[in-house]
Amino acid sequence: MKDTFKHKGLRQQLVKELKHKGITDEAVLNAIGNVPRHLFMDSGFLHYAYVDKAFPIAADQTISQPYTVAFQTELLQIKKGDKILEIGTGSGYQTAILCELGAKVYSIERQNELFKKTSKFLPKLGYRAKKLVFGDGYAGLREEAPFDGIIVTAGAPFVPKALLGQLKIGGRLVIPVGKNVQEMTLYTRKGEKEFDKEEFGEFRFVPLLEDKN
Ligand code: SAH
Repeated sequence: MKDTFKHKGLRQQLVKELKHKGITDEAVLNAIGNVPRHLFMDSGFLHYAYVDKAFPIAADQTISQPYTVAFQTELLQIKKGDKILEIGTGSGYQTAILCELGAKVYSIERQNELFKKTSKFLPKLGYRAKKLVFGDGYAGLREEAPFDGIIVTAGAPFVPKALLGQLKIGGRLVIPVGKNVQEMTLYTRKGEKEFDKEEFGEFRFVPLLEDKN
């Protein structure tokens, strides 16, 4: 597990590219510049690690595109110490970005293989999530709610009510909604039953799956 000057250089190129594509939050750009994305992929695919594309990982899943990770993270507007719930731990790359930003991270993954692999891997890089959970993201994490922010990293066919209900007042839910194509959607909780909704264009994600198989 090496992170060399060459990797760091490639990451700075990626950061430049993301700036060019419209990411402005310096803390988010710094986090992308710090997390060694190549270590989250199989070593044979090193050359793809710092290209701005999604890439296959284990269990038919993908590591999200860096631009998408940056875009969703920017929408969360994380402050140090914020309590953040992630749905879809996957490779743990997004989890690591949230840790870099000083968030207290809770993350749920429904594929046992990925859950086990990522639970072992993240601490090796020094990223300590508060809790990694093997379970169903549709239900959120009631025992740890409420959260300052919730990020869903798979395409949701609808907005799970449980997730809206687990936001603090002022909290933000960033969720790509749709079946084949997803609209990036931000819900901000304004009151007990009051939410603002904003949309930010189309993205493509692997689906947020409803039943375990
Ligand atoms: N954040 C990840 C993205 C992985 S892709 C990364 O940075 O690599 C989406 C992930 O969501 C997959 O790992 C998939 O297994 C998981 N997923 C799909 N449906 C889910 C559900 N209902 N609950 C929790 N995780 C789910």
